[in-house]
Amino acid sequence: AVPLVVAKSTALSAKSGLLIKNRTAFENSRKITTIVFDKTGTLTVGKFQVSKIVSLQKELNEDEIIRLVSALEQQSEHPIATGILQKVKDLGITIPSTEKFKAITGKGVEATVDGKKIMVVSPGYLTETNLSLPAGFKANETETVVFVIINKELAGYIALSDEIRPESAEAIQILKKNNIRSILLTGDNVRVAKSVSNALGMDSFIAEVLPHEKLEKIKDLQKKGEFVAMTGDGVNDAPALAQADIGIAVGSGSDIAAETAGIILVNSNPLDIVSLILFGKATYRKMI
Ligand code: ADP
Ligand code: MG
Repeated sequence: AVPLVVAKSTALSAKSGLLIKNRTAFENSRKITTIVFDKTGTLTVGKFQVSKIVSLQKELNEDEIIRLVSALEQQSEHPIATGILQKVKDLGITIPSTEKFKAITGKGVEATVDGKKIMVVSPGYLTETNLSLPAGFKANETETVVFVIINKELAGYIALSDEIRPESAEAIQILKKNNIRSILLTGDNVRVAKSVSNALGMDSFIAEVLPHEKLEKIKDLQKKGEFVAMTGDGVNDAPALAQADIGIAVGSGSDIAAETAGIILVNSNPLDIVSLILFGKATYRKMI
């Protein structure tokens, strides 16, 4: 039976944009009861576009805000960084240099630019540092917002939008028909997570999750008896991918995620996961 499985899984890999690193991952795919999806680049296209730059300080204009921010983002590989750098390029702004750059994992980035201490962070981190959201702040529910802190004062924010992948809704629907639960797990804010999860008809979402918490969320599901597959792309995701019953590293992500996972989703297309599961079920049904 082993050669058959190997042949089938290899054929599937070749056809459907999946790289199956070990046979167990393929064998186990038919046991999945829950799939935990990351958002950016898997369920969404992963191409952030800046939709708004807002200054909250009189002496600071929007171009200056994004100029300072770009210096930090030039050293980050987050999809948010890519979106911000594209905008800076479109505006023809020259990117300044930084000192003491540091990524605050799952929360943002910080560095010194022109002698000022700049931080670009998530809404969750903003409230953690006792800075409050600007009065009357309202963001579109589909937009990701990052806040800009200059010398410990809230200076402005940047809103970015991403799009849901055209294949995502169908993938979730097919999973549902096969009694497989889908959960969205993301470091992005609650508004965005909720809007993506609702738009796709997912079973639930967990938002503003810090990297170390991802692993705990997978364990919690397993304790409830779920057989869990998880998708992820970042270095941050590696521990959770290892904990999941099946780890699926997504496309262009980090090497560490790819090493940890049993399966690699080459085209980042969630429908490829669906075909893996259905194919796994069909294969073993015939064999047994
Ligand atoms: P996910 O992989 O689910 O998108 P991350 O843990 O990578 O989540 O990021 C969580 C949040 O931290 C982002 O939504 C953003 O608010 C903030 N963040 C992370 N990296 C950056 C960055 N380079 N620039 C600005 N904000 C960032
Ligand atoms: Mg990520």
